[in-house]
Amino acid sequence: MQAIAYAIDSPTGRFARTTIERRDPGPTEVLFDVAFAGICHSDIHTARGEWGRANYPLVPGHEVAGIVRQVGSQVSRFAVGDRVGVGCFVDSCGECEQCRAGQEQFCEGDGGTVWTYGGVGRDGLPTAGGYSTCITVEQDYLLRIPDSIELAVAAPLLCAGITTYSPLHRWGAGPGKRVAIVGMGGLGHMGVQLAAAMGAEVAVISQTRSKETDGRRFGASEYYATSEEGTLRSLRRSFDLMINTVSAGIDFTRLLGCLKVGGALVDVGLPEHPIQLRLNALIGGNRILAGSQIGGIAETQEMLDFCADHGLAAQVEIIGGEDINDAYDKVVASQVRYRYVIDTSTFA
Ligand code: NAP
Ligand code: ZN
Repeated sequence: MQAIAYAIDSPTGRFARTTIERRDPGPTEVLFDVAFAGICHSDIHTARGEWGRANYPLVPGHEVAGIVRQVGSQVSRFAVGDRVGVGCFVDSCGECEQCRAGQEQFCEGDGGTVWTYGGVGRDGLPTAGGYSTCITVEQDYLLRIPDSIELAVAAPLLCAGITTYSPLHRWGAGPGKRVAIVGMGGLGHMGVQLAAAMGAEVAVISQTRSKETDGRRFGASEYYATSEEGTLRSLRRSFDLMINTVSAGIDFTRLLGCLKVGGALVDVGLPEHPIQLRLNALIGGNRILAGSQIGGIAETQEMLDFCADHGLAAQVEIIGGEDINDAYDKVVASQVRYRYVIDTSTFA
């Protein structure tokens, strides 16, 4: 069946309305109507070719929330009308060591993890993401959105939420820990809320003071602006854990200096170009530099339920399909507060 979608056809192109084909759900698949899709900075890196050439035409969107329209004959876990979401991937082998460990994002089977867009689906067609009116997904890769979270503010949890929840959880954010979130955009504003809800003492490290009131409202007790001379120097040996969400190249040597002895800097930002690092910042202080990529399905459901239990969600600006091009420029200019979410009812 046909879906209406917004696609881009080159790194310098603009998004335009189009139609794409969605398969009827197979026995274990679910077709759902997309209500909202978040714009992640990864969509922008991909669409603009900053991570290498993408597969065009490209329909991005991996923060997708909606309502089940149709289920396959053997679908046991979802029913028509359920509130569901899909994140960065829609399939994996299900059998390799990583899949069995609940880390489907690192699938080592044939074909590996199938990304929600830019990959190849079970029907052999290129996968197309949430900037579309409906999508067909294998039930094991669908998430259940708790009733208390509106779909528009739930969508960004499917990437921004899990990408910050997973490293905060894994690296022990909690009472007695001083945690810094570097960059307060889509990922960062979720990171602040999640770290605070986990009981940590949270600091925001942003470029400017323009988001300070919001940062404190999200749960930070400290706020620092790198545009102010000497900020990072004054934070030497301050944090147990830092999560870097910055989408551009920044000075990792100076960031590492802000860690306590034995502290960890976990990077989730993925800028276009490689970074440089002076290794004495790592060695002097037994510091840890780590990475983290989204999270598996079980952990994503755990994060959604955690958000429901703690009354957390994204702060969003809802836009229409025709606003996507403009929204991309505003995200790159750090003007988004704090996630653009596309309302697919504007596609008709
Ligand atoms: P975003 O909404 O654009 O936020 C990025 C933030 O970085 C901005 O709000 C800004 O924060 C800061 N920033 C931007 N340019 C900067 C510069 N030149 N110097 C210093 N700070 C700058 O992006 P996002 O959607 O949160 O994504 C952030 C990064 O994470 C992207 O690279 C994305 O691809 C990556 N990502 C990774 C994963 C993963 O699994 N690891 C998942 C999703 C996204 P302030 O205004 O507060 O300074
Ligand atoms: Zn993302």
